[in-house]
Amino acid sequence: MGLLGSDERPRDIILGTLDDLINMARSRSMWPLTFGIACCAIEMMATWDPKIDADRFGMFFRNTPRQADVMIVSGTVNKKLAKRLRRLYDQMAEPKWVISMGACANQGGPFRQGYSVVEGVDKIVPVDVYIPGCPPRPEALLQALLLLRDKIADRELRYKKPRAIPTDYDVLAEP
Ligand code: SF4
Repeated sequence: MGLLGSDERPRDIILGTLDDLINMARSRSMWPLTFGIACCAIEMMATWDPKIDADRFGMFFRNTPRQADVMIVSGTVNKKLAKRLRRLYDQMAEPKWVISMGACANQGGPFRQGYSVVEGVDKIVPVDVYIPGCPPRPEALLQALLLLRDKIADRELRYKKPRAIPTDYDVLAEP
């Protein structure tokens, strides 16, 4: 860009679509919802400390789902929380993405056999990236965020297609 030929007109031109430009902007301004559940949330907070410093990638926590486009589910999801978690997800504007952080969010973790625990947050909301570990380190969360960022920029994610939002989990139907 910016190179001029002998006739002083731009010589190098980058062609792209408006979608490419919008997705590039989206991928550089991912705003997670401030939402910590259990011990994994401590590692999530550490991802924004001065050492890892996720801020430098344009990722800033928002305190309201209306302004957030990424939900990081960082801990054990119990059945009482399930409806509230889903309500927060529904209040986030499209396009939006979900990261499942740690064994508990992925499939219930060490509490999987308990009567009160949801065996995976993907029973409640659609998940885009899963992070293994108990707990995953901040570096793993950063890697997941950067993976999500690249997927958003490359338009690989399914937000352009109808999202399969779980609706039949019995906990969601309770009054
Ligand atoms: Fe805690 Fe491990 Fe569950 Fe994370 S995965 S919330 S560290 S028990």
